Amino acid sequence: TSNLSGKTVLITAAGQGIGRATALAFAAVGAKVHATDINTDALATLATESKVSTHKLNVLEDEAVKALVAEIGAVDVLFNCAGTVHNGSVLDMKDTDLEFAFDLNVKAMVRTIRAVLPGMLERKDGAIINMSSVASSIKGVPNRFAYGVTKAAVIGLTKSVAADYVTQGVRCNCICPGTVESPSLQDRMRAQGDYDTARAAFIARQPMGRLGTPEEIADLAVYLAGATYTSGQAYAIDGGWTI
Ligand code: NAD
Repeated sequence: TSNLSGKTVLITAAGQGIGRATALAFAAVGAKVHATDINTDALATLATESKVSTHKLNVLEDEAVKALVAEIGAVDVLFNCAGTVHNGSVLDMKDTDLEFAFDLNVKAMVRTIRAVLPGMLERKDGAIINMSSVASSIKGVPNRFAYGVTKAAVIGLTKSVAADYVTQGVRCNCICPGTVESPSLQDRMRAQGDYDTARAAFIARQPMGRLGTPEEIADLAVYLAGATYTSGQAYAIDGGWTI
């Protein structure tokens, strides 16, 4: 992989979970990291990291995305990590649930990509990494209608951007995790009432018999940022869920 030392990395939803682990992983290889999140308390836990600058950013707000990218300047690596899980089938879901999932899981990526891509094209160099899931076009998962629809859209978005810019030095790939230990997963397990049963069910989905760690996903994001011969791919990292 290429040297990421000194590269500028912009990460959305970096306050906790996979985004936070990825901010630390990029900083550890010497990159200059701009960690962004809507939750400033969560971001504050990264403030002591010397290679990490933190910024409040709501990825639902186009003007805020543009303003932050203008402030940062050149972005070499964009990691679009922000996303939300909606539980329920097509019949359980309200239209507003699907609209919100599209806004946060898909349109937010359009906003950030539009903001950083002109600079990447000028420099003929850039890596875009998007967060999808194996619960997408890769695998149908019960009770995840709005989630599966929008994470499948992320794969299409990724391939489309990759196809348009593959000859111009900009690569775009996406990451498709199985179930990963994170604060929001903890919330979802608690919300089911019986925490132990919910946790056992989430673990049972992975033949490896455990949840993934945010650090394992972060390693793949760092790899993809420097993997100069791959674009337009959906990388499953799922404890064997889709073997
Ligand atoms: P998480 O859900 O615990 O944290 C998400 C973060 O996103 C929070 O810090 C929150 O403040 C931030 N956020 C929410 N709305 C935002 C907005 N409008 N603007 C900016 N930030 C906002 O973290 P996680 O579970 O690691 O999930 C991160 C990504 O990984 C999501 O896209 C998720 O769909 C995807 N993913 C997670 C898993 C898993 O099992 N945890 C599996 C597959 C994919």
